[in-house]
Amino acid sequence: MKAWCAPDHDPIVLVEGQGAILWDRHGREYIDGNSSIWTNIHGHNHPAINAAIKSQLDKVAHVSFLGSTNVPAIELAEKLAGRFPPRTLTRTFYSDDGSTAVEVAVKMALQYWQLRGRPEKTRFLAFENAYHGDTTGASSLGGLGTFTSRFAAIHFPVERAANLEAISSRDPDRLAAVVIEPLVQGAAGIRLWPPGMLASLRAWCDAHDVLLIFDEVLTAFGRTGRLFACEHENVLPDLLCLAKGLTGGYLPLAATLTTESIYDAFLGEYHELKTFFYGHSYCGNPLGCAAALANLEIFEEENTLETLKEKIVFLRDLLGGLRTLANVGEIRQCGLIVGIEIQRDSGKPFPWQEEVGARVCAAARKYGLLTRPILDTIILMPPLCTTRPQLERATEAIQRAIQEVCERHHQ
Ligand code: PLP
Repeated sequence: MKAWCAPDHDPIVLVEGQGAILWDRHGREYIDGNSSIWTNIHGHNHPAINAAIKSQLDKVAHVSFLGSTNVPAIELAEKLAGRFPPRTLTRTFYSDDGSTAVEVAVKMALQYWQLRGRPEKTRFLAFENAYHGDTTGASSLGGLGTFTSRFAAIHFPVERAANLEAISSRDPDRLAAVVIEPLVQGAAGIRLWPPGMLASLRAWCDAHDVLLIFDEVLTAFGRTGRLFACEHENVLPDLLCLAKGLTGGYLPLAATLTTESIYDAFLGEYHELKTFFYGHSYCGNPLGCAAALANLEIFEEENTLETLKEKIVFLRDLLGGLRTLANVGEIRQCGLIVGIEIQRDSGKPFPWQEEVGARVCAAARKYGLLTRPILDTIILMPPLCTTRPQLERATEAIQRAIQEVCERHHQ
């Protein structure tokens, strides 16, 4: 905050967007290199999403989801359910953002086991370096000290595992659920899980009566090359958390999808109090749901996932060029999600206090790319609509920025 408020700091005030491009108040143009904090899917100012929101706005902007419902929310729940086989992820619970999607999953899993007569199942297992959001429940699951350690006193206890092998030795009897970011841990700096991880995890959870929660807040809606990351391993969770890209990156809306079997556990007479007492004021917001419906339709109309295949390969080739730089270490790519590690000439990391990653991103802005680092990992995660020339410009900007900052940097 101190740096932000410094007299010579000129904050980036973004005023307009079109496709993968953003403009600031000085008319400077940038490629939106992190999809506006991992939310945007089909680009800014997309005519179909704009029209869907405007049309809904002329009807009603918001109505209560407690005791009533609305047309876009009904249609969206049907559309989402239609993406999965019968009796799998066919039920949708709406909330507001990624963190609340996770809170819903956690509370639902806990209550589910009570309703099924297994009240001892109260524990959750999450992975080292995981990130599931900043609300207190979601950050209890988090494994990145920066976001969690100060708040440890108010977090619920979580079992922590580094990998699949570490899970196998755990006592599953008191476990309610295992939570994972499928394929890639985003906030950890784009860390990829080994192939087969999801399938093995599913098998372990099934064998031990433990629910499986996939946090696809980052990975869903095409970013990994498929609509949902779990499709890569043909594995379904018991609870699926969606947010960020659900509305194409337009409005805050989240959905926690679950199975008929979990849904059924909550059915009962009023006096049995099986009700899931959870709700936010803006659950099922009609504007958000209208945007989300348009977002899903665009995938079909623009054949997004098909076009994406080539772009992912094209980007892989471009990243190959960066690999030759002395100051580039590992490059991790999962679809259009990329983490580029920068390092000293010697291959050793820069001290984090020197903020080299942040300086590379600041330099990249001069070359027309807007993104943020995670420590010294440069994130490149542009909207799916980003064109090949724009991908070229984005990687060129990163290359020039790395050269400018690292070569001048005292090694
Ligand atoms: N889960 C994952 C995997 C995320 O990457 C994030 C945010 O980056 C969240 C949850 C939290 O989402 P939100 O910031 O919308 O609360």
